[in-house]
Amino acid sequence: MKWTVVGYWGAYPEKGEATSAYLLEQDGFRCLIDCGSGVLSRLQTFIDVTELDAVVLSHYHQDHIADIGVLQYSWLVQNSLHNRNRKLPVYGHVEDKTGFLALTHQFTEGIAYHPDEALQVGPFQFTFIQTNHPVPCYAMRITNGDQVIVYTADTSFKQDLIPFSREADLLVSECSFYHGQEAAKAGHLTSSQCGELAAKAGVKQLLLTHLPHFGNRAVLQEEAGRKFSGIIQLAHEGWTWQG
Ligand SMILES: [Zn+2]
Repeated sequence: MKWTVVGYWGAYPEKGEATSAYLLEQDGFRCLIDCGSGVLSRLQTFIDVTELDAVVLSHYHQDHIADIGVLQYSWLVQNSLHNRNRKLPVYGHVEDKTGFLALTHQFTEGIAYHPDEALQVGPFQFTFIQTNHPVPCYAMRITNGDQVIVYTADTSFKQDLIPFSREADLLVSECSFYHGQEAAKAGHLTSSQCGELAAKAGVKQLLLTHLPHFGNRAVLQEEAGRKFSGIIQLAHEGWTWQG
């Protein structure tokens, strides 16, 4: 399976870029994980928007869902132009009723995932764990039966994330703050906590994402590296992992 970073900023996108969104692909099946601001524009660097087969959302903060509305418009326009009736499934949790209901539109269908149950989306099986965040948010462990990718979504440090991330081939961890900053109050992780999580879970590789708009971001990598001796990289648009 292949993981491509479409957007990696926390909060808002910097010029010409996007907030949280990742393209997960295997055997021609294309699943978008989160759909933040700027994503519709940036996604077209990689695929046509109508080539998506599914969307899975971690939570309903704007930097993870802001472009759902324009994704719906793009499917409306393209279906109308091509006289098609294709519907795009958009998976979300139902703990925010308003957020969940907004996933359904003429050519998109909001589908509830139940965090205690595994979810099969094309070739991918998702399992979930609730994170520590100001609104209900779910981390995802994704497997194709062979490789494992864990995406923390947004969270402060939580012990349960260690067994959840155990021996993942790739850990995609939010990294909103630098070492020593008060990340937990905002429901986020520091760089060193990302490194600690990666080390304790014994993952193969760590990708730092959901990056802050301040400081020298190369330092995030160094700080995580004091805790984790495996491969650590900083997300950028177009970064890919293939297992
Ligand atoms: Zn959030």
